Amino acid sequence: MKDCIIKWMVIGIGILSIIFIICMDFHAIGKSPNIILKGETLISLCPNETYQEQGYQALDFNQQDITKQVKIKKYHDKWIYRVQNKKGNQATAIRKFVREDTDAPIITLEGNAEETIYIDTLYIEPGYHALDHCDVDLTSEVKQTGEVNTSVVGIYPIQYQVTDHAGNQTEAIRTVTVIPKPEITDKTIYLTFDDGPSYTITPGILQILKEENIQATFFVINHSDDLNYLIKQAYEDGHTIGIHSYSHNYRYIYTSEDNFYNDLLQMSNKIENITGQKTKIIRFPGGSSNTVSTFNPGIMTRLTSFVHEKGYFYFDWNISSGDAGEVKSAEEVYQNVVQNLGNHANLVLMHDFENNYYTLNALRRIIAYGKANGYTFLKLTEGSPTMHHKIYN
Ligand SMILES: [Zn+2]
Repeated sequence: MKDCIIKWMVIGIGILSIIFIICMDFHAIGKSPNIILKGETLISLCPNETYQEQGYQALDFNQQDITKQVKIKKYHDKWIYRVQNKKGNQATAIRKFVREDTDAPIITLEGNAEETIYIDTLYIEPGYHALDHCDVDLTSEVKQTGEVNTSVVGIYPIQYQVTDHAGNQTEAIRTVTVIPKPEITDKTIYLTFDDGPSYTITPGILQILKEENIQATFFVINHSDDLNYLIKQAYEDGHTIGIHSYSHNYRYIYTSEDNFYNDLLQMSNKIENITGQKTKIIRFPGGSSNTVSTFNPGIMTRLTSFVHEKGYFYFDWNISSGDAGEVKSAEEVYQNVVQNLGNHANLVLMHDFENNYYTLNALRRIIAYGKANGYTFLKLTEGSPTMHHKIYN
């Protein structure tokens, strides 16, 4: 009987212990911590992208913050967040990643998608960029096909292809059109008259220019004030008055920069007094290529940059009429000019010094030839082609 009682007591204690343990466990479940993930729990990522944590928080059953106790196990397709409180109760949260790259790269063409170039000119690839959502810069992986034959008129497509590491492909096309060279339309003639004005020649030249309704340029020097009216008339007729020289004395002006500049300013002032206008357009006596100044080595090299620094524009020429001594007839002046005209800017050197009848008598024919052959006559301005010569001194 006593044995039996002891036996039942042991069984009873065992059952009570089991009930107690079970109750303890239920009690513990109610005391678990909790992990809250910020942001989405299902994230779309690029294949090799590292997930940038958006945040999380762990609170114990009593709302105590135990975020610092969270441990994260990082896998390629998920992160597992775990936390355990002091009582040994755990909580778990999972963030899953869907890894894929479905976006094709984007090719951006520098320059125009439709380029047009003239035949026999150089074609330079303007360049491109390829960017991908997942691979970032794919520029170096772009394959370019197609070539431009710049010596044959035609339309040439250039293809640009790139594939990202997920196999998404993109193509861009540039069309290069090679066109024939344009008709050169800037056939211009700048007539320039040096060393005037003169009683015998300048009035006739002004008369012809007026009748032909064209404008020219006069690089004047100092003569008698009785001739000032011709400078004034030329200016009022709309021609350009440029500074040639006050003295036109090579020995004097090319001896020093000071001499040159004094001489230039004297002529500049004279012109301004007559016309009321300052001019910055000049021509060196003998041209910038002259060798008459070699008694002063390097003077032309120095003067050409000097006048530039002072804000002057000096003009040489690419056609010489030869009327300063070489020619023996108006016909020669005419031939020297028209034979050398080209489909570009033509800067013609002539003179209106006293008794230069060859030029006066050739002028109307030169103008007629120019007009008949599609040339436009213009006066020099600060923006006109300067036709600078090679400098020999
Ligand atoms: Zn001269």
